Amino acid sequence: MRSPVTVLKRLERAVRDMEEPAVEKISEDTREDPFRVLIATMLSAQTRDPVTHAASMRLFRVARSPRTMARLSTKRIERLIYPVSFYRVKAVHVRQTCRAIVERFGGRVPATMEELLTLPGVGRKTANLVLILSHASRDNICVDTHVHRLANRLGWVRTKTPDQTEHALYKALPRRWWPRVNLFLVTWGQNVCRPVYPRCRACVVSPLCPRIGVSRVGS
Ligand code: SF4
Repeated sequence: MRSPVTVLKRLERAVRDMEEPAVEKISEDTREDPFRVLIATMLSAQTRDPVTHAASMRLFRVARSPRTMARLSTKRIERLIYPVSFYRVKAVHVRQTCRAIVERFGGRVPATMEELLTLPGVGRKTANLVLILSHASRDNICVDTHVHRLANRLGWVRTKTPDQTEHALYKALPRRWWPRVNLFLVTWGQNVCRPVYPRCRACVVSPLCPRIGVSRVGS
């Protein structure tokens, strides 16, 4: 396997001029507000970035804190976040999470993995991203479907699930890259190393990639 660091350095340069993923954009625009990063990440699951961004903005225009959002009805949240994927389930989780933050954490988004995982609808991906973007953690890697897919195609890990990938990446990558792996691989995964027909001919890491599991490439 070629060094992941060489790949990461190339990707770091290559993604500079590409549009940032929706949650990173929201994080920058809100000065890393943990609450809005948390909610936007919950909405982002299996949803395209422009849809996530627009839905988050509609919701935040109406409620910007756990207290105000917890007072919205589930129906209202549904209408505000539609058409994100699974908007009905997400609306329930958003409301329950807001109530839990108010009732159990004094209105502040918790800053530990253990506490974040007690919130309804919050899994390791969301918790890791909140810890990295809003609590400046250098000890976490956030693995979504893009990171999982690319890490396997690149031969860094051989895993079946994002959770397995996260744990394997802690061993495969030098620590200083951990917080930024998500940004690089998600941006590359959305634009070049797509789920089907990855654009290998246009890929800056093509000479370094064994393309594990890739049978057909796109243009
Ligand atoms: S060479 Fe192809 S499979 Fe490998 S990272 Fe680039 S686009 Fe993905």
